[in-house]
Amino acid sequence: MSTPTTNIRTALEAASLLEAPEALALLRGCCPDTTVFSTSFGKEDQVLTDIIHGLGGGIRIFTLDTGRLFPETYSVWTSTLERYGLPVAVYVPEQADLEAFIAGYGPNAFYASPELRQACCRIRKVQPLKRALAGAEIWITGIRAVQSPNRQGMPRWEWDEANGIYKFHPLLDWTDERLEDYVRRHEVPCNMLHERGFPSIGCAPCTRAVRPGEDARAGRWWWEANDRKECGLHQHGSAGAGA
Ligand code: SF4
Repeated sequence: MSTPTTNIRTALEAASLLEAPEALALLRGCCPDTTVFSTSFGKEDQVLTDIIHGLGGGIRIFTLDTGRLFPETYSVWTSTLERYGLPVAVYVPEQADLEAFIAGYGPNAFYASPELRQACCRIRKVQPLKRALAGAEIWITGIRAVQSPNRQGMPRWEWDEANGIYKFHPLLDWTDERLEDYVRRHEVPCNMLHERGFPSIGCAPCTRAVRPGEDARAGRWWWEANDRKECGLHQHGSAGAGA
C-alpha cells in the first residue's frame, strides 16, 4: 500500500529530530511495508541492525553480495543471523552480465581504469541495489558525516533521484566515540577487520587498511582520486530537504 508522498516527507522531517530508535519506529509506522535498510555488516550497519532488533524488527533488511567480499564479512554476516534472528534478503549480480564482464576484461579489471572500476560496481552493486529497492519508499542507511569529506554537510534525509526513493541516515551525526560506546554497551557483533585498521569495509580487492588520522574512506579505491570515491550506491545533493 502506498503512502502519500507528503506524509512521508512529514514523517522524515519529524524523524530527523529524533534519536535513531525513535526515528526508525516512526518511519516504520509511516511506511510499514516499504521502509528498507541496506547492510554491508560494517559497524554502523551492525548498530542499526541492533536497534531494529530492539524495536522488534518490522523493517526489511537486505545486503548486496558482490562475490568479492572479505571472508571476515561473511563471518560477521553469519554471526549477525545467529545473534538477531532477523531475515536478511540477499541480492547478487546478474549472472550473464558478470560472466561477460569478467570474460571481457579479466577478474581484476577494476584496477585498469576508473571506467572499468565503475562498470564493476555497476554490475556487482548498483544493478542489484535497484532490484533490492524496487517498491520501497524509504531507504535507511548507516552513513555518518565523519566518514568522508563527501558526506560532510549532508542532510539527515534526502530524495535520491537516481533510485527514486527517500533516504534516511539515522546515525549521520554520530561521532566515532558514540558509535564505539554503543557497540561496547550492547555487545554488537562486528567485523574483525575494524580492529585491523579498516574503518570502512567493502570488496576485498578494493579496500585496504588506513593509517591513524587518515580519512575513514581513504582505504576504498585508494588508487583513485578522492572526488571519485563512491560506488554509485549513494549519490548526494539530489534535492534533499532535510535538516
Ligand atoms: S568495490 Fe571493487 S570489486 Fe566491488 S564492485 Fe566495486 S570495483 Fe567491483
